[in-house]
Amino acid sequence: MKIDILTLFPNSFTPLTESIIGRAQKNDKIEINVVDIREFSLDKHKKCDDYTFGGGEGLLMTPQPLFDCIESVLDDDAFVIYLSPKGKTLNQSVVQDLATNYKHLVLICGHYEGIDQRVIDTFVDMELSIGDYILTGGELPAMVLVDAVARLLPEVLGNDQSFKNETFKDNLLEFPQYTRPSEFRGLKVPEVLLSGNHQEVEKWRKQQSEELTKKRRPDLLKEK
Ligand code: SAM
Repeated sequence: MKIDILTLFPNSFTPLTESIIGRAQKNDKIEINVVDIREFSLDKHKKCDDYTFGGGEGLLMTPQPLFDCIESVLDDDAFVIYLSPKGKTLNQSVVQDLATNYKHLVLICGHYEGIDQRVIDTFVDMELSIGDYILTGGELPAMVLVDAVARLLPEVLGNDQSFKNETFKDNLLEFPQYTRPSEFRGLKVPEVLLSGNHQEVEKWRKQQSEELTKKRRPDLLKEK
C-alpha cells in the first residue's frame, strides 16, 4: 500500500520512522510519503491560509496550494481522506476496510480552522475523525490512521497471529494476559493458564472476554 500524507508540518511525522511502521517501510511492505503543502503555494511568501469569508476568527487553509498538492499525488487508485472532527468516527472496521480494499490512500491534514470547503467538495472521498474532541491539526489523526492500517497489512506484524484474538475481533475486548514469572510479589497468574490444557485455557479466555465486554463495552455486544 502507498500512503501520501499532505501537511503543512512535515517534520511532525518522525514517529512513523520508528518501530514496526519504520521497519515495514524499510522492508517495502508500505510506502509512506510526507508531502509539504506549502511547497505548492504560488504566493510569493508561500502563504497557505487566509481569513474566512463571512467573518469569524481564525484562519482557513486556502484552496490553491491544496488543489495543486492533491493533484500532484492523484492516480486511478487514490482514495482521498480528510482528517476532520466532522467526519465518520474511525473504528476497527473502517481500519480493516481501508487495509483490505485500497492500494493508495491520500490523507489531508487540516490546520487552523480547517480547509476551504471547495477542496472537500472536489477531491475528498471520506472524512474521518479520530474521536469527539478537537486537536490543533490533522497530523496526529493521520499518524493514528496510518499506524492502525499499516499493522493489518500482510507481513507488517512479525506474527500474523498477533491480531487473531485482539480487542474488537468478534466485537469482544481481549482477555487478560500474563507473562513470566508465574508469581510476582505474591501476585499469582490464574492457575488455568499454567495447566497446559488448551481447551480449558480457550474456555477461560472466552469467558473473560465476554465478561469484560459486558462490563465495559455493552455497546459492542449489541452490534454482534
Ligand atoms: N474548525 C474545525 C471544526 O470546528 O470542526 C476544527 C479545526 S481543527 C482546530 C484543525 C484541524 O485539525 C482540522 O482541519 C482537522 O484536520 C484536524 N482535527 C482536529 N480534530 C480532529 C479529530 N478529532 N479527528 C480528525 N482530525 C481532527
